[in-house]
This record gives sequence, structure tokens and C-alpha cells, in this order.
Amino acid sequence: MIAYNLEKLKNSIPEKVCLIAVSKTKPVIDLQEAYNFGQRHFGENKVQEMCEKEAALPKDIQWHLIGHLQTNKVKYIAPFVHLIHSVDSLKLLLEINKQALKNNRIINILLQFHIALEETKFGLNLTEVKELLDSEEYRNCHNINILGVMGMASFVENEIHIRNEFKELKSIYEFLKLNYFANQPEFKEISMGMSGDYAIAIEEGSTMIRVGSSIFGGR
Ligand SMILES: *Cc1c(COP(=O)(O)O)cnc(C)c1O
Repeated sequence: MIAYNLEKLKNSIPEKVCLIAVSKTKPVIDLQEAYNFGQRHFGENKVQEMCEKEAALPKDIQWHLIGHLQTNKVKYIAPFVHLIHSVDSLKLLLEINKQALKNNRIINILLQFHIALEETKFGLNLTEVKELLDSEEYRNCHNINILGVMGMASFVENEIHIRNEFKELKSIYEFLKLNYFANQPEFKEISMGMSGDYAIAIEEGSTMIRVGSSIFGGR
């Protein structure tokens, strides 16, 4: 079933969109099935779970941390993580830089923005990101690479509402590209879209979708 779901999903999205299989709460054998079908990008939202799965699975998997990250846990994923989607403070960014340096790595990150109605969702706003990117501490970070932005739309039925939130994230991306990353071609990713809304997200310019239940079934 997992391979079938992956096949169907891959055939319905443009080839240039990166599909991240969100495997949180699912057992290693489910990830192995997706891996055997050729899937290499996996997303997890908890540090401990990601570390356990990383130890058990092939080393050419690219691990994406998509959930809220506490600074005291960065050290556990710093040796292997491929991309951290959920960077929402200068404090977290500085810790990632520090741990990347310790591991002699450059760690890829995305800046997470709060675009939804729900208060519970994490993320920066425009004022906060400007303050972060203008800070001297940020300018002294040489072991992180900011690849783009990430956001989650509201859990609502109204498609127009969801579409407008994705449009907002895209416009934040464009603003940052123009004002802060004009000379950085690697700043090109917009991580948006999940099982329920990835088609809208792709229409609005998503370059990475994070899909869980449509591949692995409900949680
Ligand atoms: C769980 C999760 C997803 C995937 O959700 P599905 O609805 O199962 O596709 C995507 N992004 C984040 C940040 C998540 O926590």
C-alpha cells in the first residue's frame, strides 16, 4: 500500500517538487518499504524518534526535521540532519550553528513563518525575521545555510483561505530573496503543503511538500 500511495502521489506532482515522506509515529518497516520504492527524503517531528530511525535505516536517507525543535536537543541531530525546517528564533539558529561547527558541518535550515490562524502553530513574523537577519550574531554564523522558508496553513475547509496563506508565505519568500538573499542562489525553497493541501501549495509555488497520512495512512 505504501509503494502504491507513493507511486500515485509522485505521478500527480511535478518532478521538480521535492516530496518529503513524513513518517512520524510510523514503524521502521514502513519507512523501509518507502525506501525500497526509492524514497530518500523522510520527515520527522521528534528528535528522539528521528535518531532511532536514523540508526536503524540506510545511511543515504536525507532526514528532515519538521517539528518544533528545542535548543537543548540540536546536538543529537547535528551529526546527520539534512534540513531543519522549523527554525523560528535567533537563539535556535545560533545553537544549530554551534553544533554544526562542532561536527565540522554546514547545516541547512529553513526559516519557519506563522501564516495560520491557530495560535498553537510556531513561526516568525516579518518584524522578527528582519531583526534576526540584521543582527550581528547572525552575520557571524558560518556553519548554517538558509535555503528558504517553511509554513503550515490553517486546518480549515475554506480553500481560498488556505490559498491566501500560501500566497503570504510566497510573498515573504520573495521579500527575503530580494532584500537579504539576492546573491545566494541556494535560497530557493518554499516548504509548504501537507496531505490535505499539497495540490494548492504547489499551485502557489511550493518547492517541497511534506506528506504523511496520504502515504503511510492515518496516525
Ligand atoms: C505531520 C506533519 C506533516 C504531514 O501531515 P499529513 O497531514 O499527515 O500529511 C507536515 N508538516 C508538519 C510540520 C507536520 O507536523
